[in-house]
Amino acid sequence: MFPTTIAGSLPKPSWLATPDTLWAPWKLEGEELAAAKLDATLLALKEQEDAGIDIVGDGEQSRQHFVHGFLELVSGIDFAHKVEMGIRNNRYKAMVPTVTGALALKGRVHAAEARHARAHTTRKLKFTLPGPMTIVDTIADAHYGDRVKLAFAFADLLNEEARALEADGVDVIQFDEPAFNVYMDDVKAWGIEALHRASASLSCTTAVHICYGYGIKANLDWKATLGSEWRQYEEIFPALAQSRIDQVSVECMNAKVPMSLLRLLDGKDVIVGAIDVASDTVETPEDVANIIAEATKYVAPEKIVAGTNCGMAPMRRDIAMAKLMALGKGAALARRWHMTQGTIA
Ligand code: ZN
Repeated sequence: MFPTTIAGSLPKPSWLATPDTLWAPWKLEGEELAAAKLDATLLALKEQEDAGIDIVGDGEQSRQHFVHGFLELVSGIDFAHKVEMGIRNNRYKAMVPTVTGALALKGRVHAAEARHARAHTTRKLKFTLPGPMTIVDTIADAHYGDRVKLAFAFADLLNEEARALEADGVDVIQFDEPAFNVYMDDVKAWGIEALHRASASLSCTTAVHICYGYGIKANLDWKATLGSEWRQYEEIFPALAQSRIDQVSVECMNAKVPMSLLRLLDGKDVIVGAIDVASDTVETPEDVANIIAEATKYVAPEKIVAGTNCGMAPMRRDIAMAKLMALGKGAALARRWHMTQGTIA
């Protein structure tokens, strides 16, 4: 009941990359960097286990950014000539690489860290990949000439890597699609179909993470424009409930998302975001247990996984670790409430 997991990223140790930064530059290079990434992966696993996290991940210690960590191993992309592009419907401008030819994988993307993680934990292992729509929203295109064709081309590459990750022993593969909260019509038109291509033939658990972004200023400013109730999920949840994806990871803690919208995910496991990654205030176990209790009003308890709202990459490491502890203790508390009261409402 109420197993715990993380959305994906954790802060990196200061000997690996500059702390408290998104896109943090690496501090090492070559073989030293490759070895240090695996050392950091091992630390991230240990810290999650100690915090009582049940479905652990590599903390994305081997990638600089959740999208570009994948793109680095894709041919057909020109990284040398970056162009400025408005992303997430112009929420922010970023210098992005350009697709200039047919896309193909140069080789395995995440084999080293996935196998290292698998070798060092007996817990269920989750691995994250960027979703096709979010990739397409983070790269310029001078070859395919069509967002859907481009997304499907990326979906096929994601599927190649996802199947290999499953063979490496990964239990849950999660696609990160923050763009789903921005282009709701596209989600229904082709976004879910792209996810189905990305997850085709997988027999492990599949998940999609849909959040309102990291706790960076551009996202906080955007959230301030969304009004007193955030209803983006309302438009896409019914379509996701019909999809072949097993789990949906959503933002709940300190979000203005009406929790009753979770009803629309009927049949799916819901990874309830119980940790706010946009605030340095560490939740108490009671805060976490209360959000889980609220979710049980709309989702069957056995379908609830307790997670974080989003990745923690840009956070201070000590704060992120304290929040992980709160997540583990909060889920344990919610379990106790559930056992002793029969219902925790
Ligand atoms: Zn997120």
